Amino acid sequence: MLNIVLFGPPGAGKGTQSDKLIAQYKLVHLSTGDILRSEIANGTTLGLEAKKLMDQGILVPDEVVIGMIESKVDANKDSKGFIFDGFPRTTAQAEALDLLLKKKNSSISMMLSLEVPKDELIKRLLNRGKDSGRADDQNESVIEKRINEYNSKTAPLKTYYTSQDKFFGVNGVGSVDEIFDSLCKVIEQ
Ligand code: AMP
Repeated sequence: MLNIVLFGPPGAGKGTQSDKLIAQYKLVHLSTGDILRSEIANGTTLGLEAKKLMDQGILVPDEVVIGMIESKVDANKDSKGFIFDGFPRTTAQAEALDLLLKKKNSSISMMLSLEVPKDELIKRLLNRGKDSGRADDQNESVIEKRINEYNSKTAPLKTYYTSQDKFFGVNGVGSVDEIFDSLCKVIEQ
């Protein structure tokens, strides 16, 4: 199986590149942000609880997202692999993911990290907010909070995957196709 963790701060381009990677490598896309937004759209209890945190740019509890990922992995037993987008975001999530894949005799193949400077992230997120209407992309202080959450809780995962020789940084500034080419080069090396 080819199991990729697509990593990077909010606005780095994970969603855009995931779409291209799943088409190229026939992988199943698992985005915890998308799953949470669909829970909100369906008005579930989980969605309503998560929304309160998401609107403030705060991470939802580990147990919630780990449970969501577990059921999606179980529901896609025959897949050639997964792209994990926006997950794991904490060390506890990364450990849970390793354990989950191990139970399925599989493992993470690599973490691909999209590197983008902070001023560019803020510009992209505010633009996306205008197009998508996503509340958490429209408010600069919520964006700041999300980037801070990333730096304090998620960025340490770089060390986690480096210690397993699975971390690969890619320049996330440039055209969508240029960035995609860089990602493919790492996958196929
Ligand atoms: P995203 O679409 O990945 O930018 O996620 C939007 C929001 O959903 C985040 O700001 C968090 O509040 C929440 N979220 C998404 N994925 C996770 C995760 N793996 N762990 C905790 N919270 C998450």
